[in-house]
Amino acid sequence: HEGVVLKDYVNGFPKESDMLLDASSTISLNLPEASNGILVKNLYLSCDPYMRSRMSNIQGSYVESFTPGSKITGYGVAKVVDSRHSNFKKGDLVWGFTGWEEYSIINAPETLFKIQHTDVPLSYYTGILGMPGMTAYVGLYEICAPKKGERVFVSAASGAVGQLVGQFAKLSGCYVVGSAGTKEKVELLKNKFGFDEAFNYKEEQDLDAALKRYFPDGIDIYFENVGGKMLEAVLLNMRLHGRISVCGMISQYNLEQGEGVRNLTCLITKRVRMQGFIVGDSYHLYPKYMEMVLPLIKEKKICYVEDIAEGLESAPAALVGLFSGRNVGKQVPSAPQF
Ligand code: NDP
Repeated sequence: HEGVVLKDYVNGFPKESDMLLDASSTISLNLPEASNGILVKNLYLSCDPYMRSRMSNIQGSYVESFTPGSKITGYGVAKVVDSRHSNFKKGDLVWGFTGWEEYSIINAPETLFKIQHTDVPLSYYTGILGMPGMTAYVGLYEICAPKKGERVFVSAASGAVGQLVGQFAKLSGCYVVGSAGTKEKVELLKNKFGFDEAFNYKEEQDLDAALKRYFPDGIDIYFENVGGKMLEAVLLNMRLHGRISVCGMISQYNLEQGEGVRNLTCLITKRVRMQGFIVGDSYHLYPKYMEMVLPLIKEKKICYVEDIAEGLESAPAALVGLFSGRNVGKQVPSAPQF
């Protein structure tokens, strides 16, 4: 029974060697009579940027830290192997919180979502049909309420969340520009996801000038994934009454103390609304989101690019790779022998 363990709390950029593939633990494939839990075989795992904060010993965060020496936990897709819970039976497919290991015992399975639609790739439940999909939906529609013709900018635009934000905004009739960190990703944005324009932020000396090139009349909606210098430049380019949905600030996650952000007074002068959110507060909207997104997938009005790494042993490098931009699309490690 293999699993991935966090060796110790991490400072700065996480490294593959901060995690260990442990094959020594055993698990019984039959649950005890008294249990109210389920036993699952994990099929796909999800690498997500918020997991970085769980690798630190931070008190008072909205997510609990991992315990050094224990298996990493996170979102995943799994199949029920044994169940002592009346809502789940052997063979059910689920997505939600599970362990980075071959099999997991889930003691409170009420938090899991049952997978009803299997005519789409199961790995999608770590992405477009899972947490990142809901994140794009809530952050764009609930917070920014895009209107036809509005000008939308998305950072980390080729990633798990960003590629969806851009495509949803296009479907809403917006003008959409994305930034990403490689030429390959910029091509994807323009040629696969249908962004109107895209640029490689690493090749721009002056981000303010880059944004002025694509938004001569300013930005109505900014979907914030990166923070730092990009946010400073965006603030200068917001339009009156613009909205900024603060989804994430990945450029700050590995810093001891976040960088200060200049130009915040633009929020005042331009009457901009900047609002943060946590997707976990909005899962009651999941059925509504599924109703919207499933037909879009089936009618090929939306596409989703995944970066699948084979096997649990590839998971540590895949997770660390999020912070250097190694992933092209949603990073999904698969579990062994799947
Ligand atoms: P991605 O699939 O976009 O992967 C992360 C990407 O971020 C990398 O591929 C890289 O792309 C980019 N990146 C990494 N470091 C930097 C940096 N220093 N500066 C700029 N870009 C960087 O991840 P997700 O789509 O899963 O997540 C996107 C954002 O959404 C994250 O900030 C995440 O924390 C946040 N999030 C927030 C949620 C919420 O509830 N609020 C829920 C889910 C995600 P590139 O090559 O383009 O640099």
